[in-house]
Amino acid sequence: MRVAVVGGGAVGVTAATEAAEAGADVVLYERGELASGSTGRAAGICYDAYAEDVDATVAAEALSRFRELGVLTECPYVWYARQGDGSEVAAIREQVPRMREHGRDVALVDPAELGERYPQLRTDDVAVAAMARSAGHVDPTEYVQAMAERALAAGVGVRTDREASLAGPTTVESPDGTAEFDAVLVAAGPATKDLVGQVGVEIPSKAYRAQALVTEPLRATLPMAYDASREFYWRPRAGGLLVGDGTHEADPNDWDPDADAAFEEHALDRLRDATTLDPDVDRSWAGLCTATPDRDPLLGEVADGLHVATGWHGHGLMRAPALGARAAELLLGGEGIDAFDPDRFDGDEEFDVVEGTTLDEE
Ligand SMILES: Cc1cc2nc3c(=O)[nH]c(=O)nc-3n(C[C@H](O)[C@H](O)[C@H](O)COP(=O)(O)OP(=O)(O)OC[C@H]3O[C@@H](n4cnc5c(N)ncnc54)[C@H](O)[C@@H]3O)c2cc1C
Repeated sequence: MRVAVVGGGAVGVTAATEAAEAGADVVLYERGELASGSTGRAAGICYDAYAEDVDATVAAEALSRFRELGVLTECPYVWYARQGDGSEVAAIREQVPRMREHGRDVALVDPAELGERYPQLRTDDVAVAAMARSAGHVDPTEYVQAMAERALAAGVGVRTDREASLAGPTTVESPDGTAEFDAVLVAAGPATKDLVGQVGVEIPSKAYRAQALVTEPLRATLPMAYDASREFYWRPRAGGLLVGDGTHEADPNDWDPDADAAFEEHALDRLRDATTLDPDVDRSWAGLCTATPDRDPLLGEVADGLHVATGWHGHGLMRAPALGARAAELLLGGEGIDAFDPDRFDGDEEFDVVEGTTLDEE
C-alpha cells in the first residue's frame, strides 16, 4: 500500500513511522525541517490526567510510548484553583474522581501539604489542588528525531523542504512532481484546513496563537503546574522555568512567531504572584495551536483515501505517540475513534476557540 503523509510534526512523523513499520510504502512531505511547525514550539508537558475515558486511555498509551523511547523526564503535574474562583474549584473537585475511575494516578492534595513539599509555591489562597503523578516533560524535537530515526529505518521516504499540495484526494503535488497514493494523511497542523480545502473538503478547524517564555536559570524546585485561576502554566526547563498561556485566534498564513512584550510582563507578574520567584526572561516565542467546535480532535477519513489528523487544542504533542499510531492504523484500514471522527461535523460550523487547558465543561 502506498501512503503519503503531509506534515513532519510529532503527529505526522509518528504516523509515517507506524504505517511503514506495519508494511506500507510511505512518503513523508514536510515543507521545512522536521518539527519546524507547532511541535518545535511546544512546551512539552505530558500527563494522562483526563476525565473522559477515551482521552485518559490515549494519554496513558502515549506516556507509555514516550517512556519506551526514553524521552520522558518524569515530573509531577499539579493544577489548582484559588479561593473565590467557584467554577474552577468545582471543576477540579468534579474531574479528579472521574480521572481516578479511569485508573489515573491522580489525587486531590491538601494545599498546605503542597506548600510544605514545594516551599517556593504560594499556597495561602489555593482552595483546591490536584496532582497527577504519571506525568513529565519531553523535548519535542528530541521526540521527533527519535521517531525520524525509526522512520528512516522502516524505509519512509522523508522529503524535507518539500511543500505539498493536493491535486486530488490521493494525489500529491510537490517539487518532486505529482504522485498517486492509495491513502494520504494530512497532519499539517494549522495548514491542514487549507490543504484539504484544495480538494473541496471543509473541516471545522481554527488556528490560535499560544506563547511561551523560558526564564533565566533559577534555584527552583517546583512541579509542572497549571494555575486554573490565573490561566497559565509552567514546567522546569534548562535550570529555569518555561511559562506559557494563550488563546488568541490567528490567521495561520499571517501571524507573529515572536512573543508579545505584554505576554512576557503578564506571565512574569503571574509567576511572581504564584511563587516566591522573581526571574528575568531568557527567551520567548509564539506558536499556533488548532481548535475544533467540541474541543476533540479531527482524526479520520474526510474523502475517499484522504485522512486528517488535527485539532489538538494545545495537547497534540502529549498525545502524538498514541494518536499518530492510530492515524496509521486508520490509513491501513483499521478502526477509528468515534469521538474523534471528522464525520461528526458538516465542516462549516461557526465556533469560538476555547483553549485546551480550560477546566470548564463544554
Ligand atoms: C507555545 C506552545 C506550547 C505548547 N505546549 C504543549 C504541551 O506542553 N503539550 C502538548 O501536548 N502540546 C503543546 N502544544 C501543542 C503542540 O505543539 C501541537 O499540538 C503539536 O505540536 C501538533 O503536532 P502536529 O504534528 O499535529 O503539527 P505541527 O507540529 O504543526 O506539524 C505540521 C507540519 O506540517 C508542515 N506543513 C504544513 N503545510 C505543509 C505543506 N503544504 N506541505 C508539507 N508540509 C507542510 C509544517 O511545516 C509542520 O512541520 C503547544 C503549542 C504551543 C504553540
